[in-house]
Amino acid sequence: MAGLVDTHAHLEELADLEAALAEARAVGVSDVVAMGVDGPSSQRAVAWAERYPGVWAAAGHHPLNSSGPDLDLLRRLASHPRVVAVGEIGLDAVDEHRGPWAAQREWFTDCCQLALEVGLPVSVHIRGTEAQVWDALAACQGIQGVMHYWSLGWEWARRFLDLGFYLSFSGVVTRGSREELREVVRRMPADRLLLETDTPWGTPRGRSGPMQPAWLVETAQVVAQLRGIAVDELAELERANVRTLFTRLAPG
Ligand SMILES: [Zn+2]
Repeated sequence: MAGLVDTHAHLEELADLEAALAEARAVGVSDVVAMGVDGPSSQRAVAWAERYPGVWAAAGHHPLNSSGPDLDLLRRLASHPRVVAVGEIGLDAVDEHRGPWAAQREWFTDCCQLALEVGLPVSVHIRGTEAQVWDALAACQGIQGVMHYWSLGWEWARRFLDLGFYLSFSGVVTRGSREELREVVRRMPADRLLLETDTPWGTPRGRSGPMQPAWLVETAQVVAQLRGIAVDELAELERANVRTLFTRLAPG
């Protein structure tokens, strides 16, 4: 079977990275994109991508930081051949106190501009900020990317799809109560669908403890079932989408 790709994970949160990567490969998750949330974590993501086959990196600046992005560092990292995206970036209204709102918006715009400049897609975080993020992306002509950890209903899904964005589904779809979200999985175009774990968050139904890349399989099973296709077919489809969006990523 073609391997699944975990398009968004925070590997620094794993207690035993090598064991988690080996377990992921053993169950059919061939590739993982390690997100950066600030300068140092983006550097670590690049180091893992150099060290471990199947690991790719993103360089970014999470909205819940207390200070702004080191754009020179992110620009340098973005030129690395195993850096496939600018991320994680976005806007977060829930823990606004952790990242002042005016500053968050400025950082997000700066990182989107950087992505355009270096020709990479973005991996975008929203939490209570879909309208503001949509406005910012719509104003950033030519930007491409993925809305990570997609959890909203069809109306917002359609709006981000109309912008040309991909939607990435996490373990949240395994929770039966999220019918609105499952509707999005069923209705959205196949050529914009991606999968992720957002390790260590988004643990699937029936599991406990921090999420890990291997559990992407459970999300894939639910997504495949909702779309009425086999997991193999979903894996092929996701790999095609990965190659189109993250052009530097050659899945193993
Ligand atoms: Zn994340």
